Amino acid sequence: MPSRPGTGQTGEDRREALDTTTPAGADSRTGSLEGPTEKELPRVTTITGRTPAHHTEVTRAVGLTSRMRRITLAGPTLVGLAPSPAQDIEIILGDEAGRRVKRRYTIRRARPESGQFDVDALVHPHGPGGRWAASVQPGDQVEFLGPRGRLELREAGWHLFVADEAGLPAVAALCEALGPGARTVGLIEVGDQHDEIELGVTSLRWLHRGKDEPGRPDRFAAALSAMTSLAPDGQAYLLGESRVVISLRPLIEALAIDPIRTYVKGYWNVGRGRARPIAGGRTRQI
Ligand SMILES: Cc1cc2nc3c(=O)[nH]c(=O)nc-3n(C[C@H](O)[C@H](O)[C@H](O)COP(=O)(O)OP(=O)(O)OC[C@H]3O[C@@H](n4cnc5c(N)ncnc54)[C@H](O)[C@@H]3O)c2cc1C
Repeated sequence: MPSRPGTGQTGEDRREALDTTTPAGADSRTGSLEGPTEKELPRVTTITGRTPAHHTEVTRAVGLTSRMRRITLAGPTLVGLAPSPAQDIEIILGDEAGRRVKRRYTIRRARPESGQFDVDALVHPHGPGGRWAASVQPGDQVEFLGPRGRLELREAGWHLFVADEAGLPAVAALCEALGPGARTVGLIEVGDQHDEIELGVTSLRWLHRGKDEPGRPDRFAAALSAMTSLAPDGQAYLLGESRVVISLRPLIEALAIDPIRTYVKGYWNVGRGRARPIAGGRTRQI
C-alpha cells in the first residue's frame, strides 16, 4: 500500500481514524529524540517508506485496572528503537472469521536498551482488540507495524487533554514527556473510579459514565462549556471516539485555543464491526 510522502502513512491509516492536526511547520515533524528541555520538546520521528514489521513475544501482562492491562512486548528489532511520546503500533490480530485485522495501541513506554514496548490495552468483549487485551498471556507471539503516528508536543503555556479510556495511555505518555513543570489540564471520561489511573496531569477532572454507553459527547461538552481559558497560548489534544472528538472542536475554539494548536484524533468508532441492516433485509458490517 503506498505511503503518504514524508509521513509513512498509508491509505488504510487515513481511513481508520481521523487525524486533523495541522502541522506547525515543515521541520516540526522531524527532530531529536533527546529528552525535553524548556525550549525543546520531544518531537515525532518521521518514518519514511514502509512501516517496519516486528515479531515480538509477550513477556508480561498485568492488570492496571479491572478493564485495562499493561502488555509488554519484547523482540530483537525493538533494541535501540526510541519512539516519540504517544506514537503507536499497529498490532496484527485475528477477527472472529479468522481474517487478519490491525488495531492501534499507544506505546506507553519504550525500553530501547532491552528492546521492550509497553502498551496499555482496554479490555472489552466487542472486538478483536478488546478480546486480545483480555486474553493475551506471557509467551504469546505478537506481530506489529510501527512505531507510527504524528502526534507531537508543541511549546504551549498550557496543555488541555480531552480523552476517554483509549486515549489514557497517550495522555499519560505525553504528560510524562512534558515533565512536572508543565501546566496540564485533563478532562478524562471513564466508567467509574475503578478505571482511574495515575496520569501526571496537574489539574484533572474525571468524568464518570456509570452505566451509560461510551462514545457520547455530552459529558465532555458540559465540562468544556464550564471551563474558562487559562491563556490564549494553549494546546489541545482530543483523543477518543471519532465523532465525539470532532464535535468538540468548537468548544475548544471557545477556550481561545487556535484550531492549528488543536490535535484531534479518532481513536475508535462506535458500532465498528456491527452488522447494520440495509435495503432488501440484508446486513452490512460497519
Ligand atoms: C493512534 C491510536 C492509539 C490508540 N491507543 C490505544 C491504547 O493505547 N489503548 C487502547 O485500549 N486503545 C487504543 N486505541 C484505540 C483502539 O485502537 C480502538 O479502541 C480499537 O477500535 C479497538 O479495537 P477492537 O478490535 O477492540 O474494536 P473494534 O473492532 O474496532 O470495534 C468493535 C466494537 O467495540 C467497541 N469499541 C472499540 N473500541 C472501544 C473503546 N476504546 N471503548 C469502548 N468501546 C470500544 C465499539 O462499539 C465497536 O463497535 C488507539 C487508537 C489509535 C487510532
